[in-house]
Amino acid sequence: MTLTITDALFDGQRVGLRCEGGRIAALGPEVAAQPGDETIDAGGAHLVPPLVNGHTHAAMTLFRGSGGDLPLMPWLEEKIWPVEARLSDEDVYWGARLACAEMLRSGTTRFWDMYWQPEATARAVGDAGIRATIGAPLFDLNGSPEKLRDSAHRSLEALAGAGPEITPALAPHAIYTVSEESLRWIGELSAERGLPVQIHLSETEKEVQDCLAEHGERPASYLDRLGLLSERTVLAHGVWLDPDELALIAERGATVVTNPVANMKLAVGGVFPHPAARSAGVPVGLGTDGAGSNDSLDLLADLKTFALVQKHAAADPTAIDAAEAWAVATGTRAPLLGASRLEVGAPADFLLLRAEAPELGIGELTADLVYAAAGAAVDTTVVGGKVLMRGGEVPGLGEIVARAAERAERLGL
Ligand SMILES: [Zn+2]
Repeated sequence: MTLTITDALFDGQRVGLRCEGGRIAALGPEVAAQPGDETIDAGGAHLVPPLVNGHTHAAMTLFRGSGGDLPLMPWLEEKIWPVEARLSDEDVYWGARLACAEMLRSGTTRFWDMYWQPEATARAVGDAGIRATIGAPLFDLNGSPEKLRDSAHRSLEALAGAGPEITPALAPHAIYTVSEESLRWIGELSAERGLPVQIHLSETEKEVQDCLAEHGERPASYLDRLGLLSERTVLAHGVWLDPDELALIAERGATVVTNPVANMKLAVGGVFPHPAARSAGVPVGLGTDGAGSNDSLDLLADLKTFALVQKHAAADPTAIDAAEAWAVATGTRAPLLGASRLEVGAPADFLLLRAEAPELGIGELTADLVYAAAGAAVDTTVVGGKVLMRGGEVPGLGEIVARAAERAERLGL
């Protein structure tokens, strides 16, 4: 089926957009529907690129609203890890289906995921029609490097045939949960197979102090020494990175994904130094982190928090502007994250905003999107030329919510 969007507002012009074979085949004022096309009359609604959620744990929607109001380590050790030890494939599948629906609903069409039973997340991603880079969390804190390697190989095998919308990744949890030996091995495997790596880094000040005490260096240089800082690496958080670490990360081409809402909820006590990262040339993306620590997956809402906390921390309203914040949220400031471009030949991933959205009616669109809008401003979400949401409705959402709630109840959440 060929999809054609007519009468959309893009870059100040009324345009049509035609999708063929999952890609944008034509875009411009003269583009019209052809006989037999599935057609959406946008009615003058804005056509914009979708958002990329650079760091999440999708199935943690099951943990939403339980065990919050705790610091990071007690939250993980008392509330999260004991329940995660009991997760089944079906739990992860329905938690991830709910996450996919929430992300599609609020304008995200691609996400980076680190979670258990990655093949269940991959199945949910395939069924939802969204795109994702997925890695099983790798730990050897209470295990062994051999077990970690088995688990990495098993998850890569499970994800190998998962489909074109899924990119397998390696996801060492953090420098405080994975041994030096295993981190080095993960770096080698990533280089050998060209696999992306996702890791939490410098989320808390304690992590930095412990790293200095144990290894005599700060987290980014520690990772670099182990061969893990490369253009394939996504560092989630980066709250406590210092200027030398930012320069090193920029030189290696690694990406930092900032998760301002999760950082504020867990009260990590600092703010990712975006102005310094930007001037150093660090590729930057935006993430929600998991619904256990956010608790929302509405990246369009988090975009406002990102911009505001940067301005506030710098005591300077010019520390970041709307255009820069929007570029970070759409993934265009970090090539690895997989931004969607609205141009002929690119995958047909895009959003139509609500034509009647009151928060978008006046003023400059990008400023309205960053400071006034949230996910509810999205009307239509298209991925690979397939309409996954229309009129703000994700088909089957009622069943997905009910099934996820059943799974959470089963886990005692
Ligand atoms: Zn995380």
